[in-house]
Amino acid sequence: MRLEVKGLGKTYANGVKALDDVSFDLEPGMFGLLGPNGAGKSTLMRTLATLQDADRGAVTLGQVDVLRDKEAVRRTLGYLPQEFGLTPKARAEDLLDTFAVLKGITARADRRAVVEALLRKTNLWDVRRQQVGGFSGGMKRRFGIAIALLGDPKLIIVDEPTAGLDPAERGRFHNLLSEIGRDAIVILSTHIVEDVANLCPRVAVLFQGRIQLQGSPEELCDRLAPRLFRKVVAHDEVAALEAALPVISHRLRAGRHEVRVVADAAPEGFEPAPASLEDVYFAVISGRWS
Ligand code: ADP
Repeated sequence: MRLEVKGLGKTYANGVKALDDVSFDLEPGMFGLLGPNGAGKSTLMRTLATLQDADRGAVTLGQVDVLRDKEAVRRTLGYLPQEFGLTPKARAEDLLDTFAVLKGITARADRRAVVEALLRKTNLWDVRRQQVGGFSGGMKRRFGIAIALLGDPKLIIVDEPTAGLDPAERGRFHNLLSEIGRDAIVILSTHIVEDVANLCPRVAVLFQGRIQLQGSPEELCDRLAPRLFRKVVAHDEVAALEAALPVISHRLRAGRHEVRVVADAAPEGFEPAPASLEDVYFAVISGRWS
């Protein structure tokens, strides 16, 4: 199954161009869509999930025209939005069973088997009789994945998956996603660069409604590395450097500031820096990539 997005465009009634000629092709596996708030990620995810319409462009999933044949897409789509309401007093097992009915799994025995398999897969079998209102953030996210996986979807869209999770829960959630990515297309939309760097063999950076670049994290880092330089300075030197140089980021390192620039040659006192996906991301959103 292949997802092809071509020339997708969306301008809201207030004139905001949320998507501007967005194109990419995906095969099964994990795809990371990175972008700051307001980049257009939700607009893109909601359009792919058939929850809103685009103005221009074409999207196909296998043989299905995603923008026109919404019912067919919904049968093969799993969508995990950032926030989803759960009936707090419902027990996990019963709630998943209800969602399974909504997804069209009407035979009771089939449903029982599917619900058990998904609760086991998401590591929630032991807590299946607990009320979802009492679940931790990580458990709720995993339960959301169980819902999204009903009906064996070929395209799974996950919006901002790990916001608010502790490191152990985040790790469990990552393992679950990469397992799912073995045979479905999984799109992970987030502004948390680290999540994408660890999980996704392919990434794209969306900024101001446009896909600014895409590729593997290694490839993008290799492209940036020859032009990335760093210098450690005191706090009161940062502002002057920012005014004078193409600075993409500065961060605290043991009480001092490490300033990173993208330039054709090392500025005075700067040394070459190893590039991470975070540097790539900051280079793009600060307008210093090209
Ligand atoms: P992201 O998910 O990356 O934060 P969004 O897709 O939510 O980005 O938003 C992209 C841009 O479109 C932002 O400038 C946002 O303010 C604007 N926008 C989003 N939804 C609407 C809407 N319903 N009406 C008008 N503008 C919107």
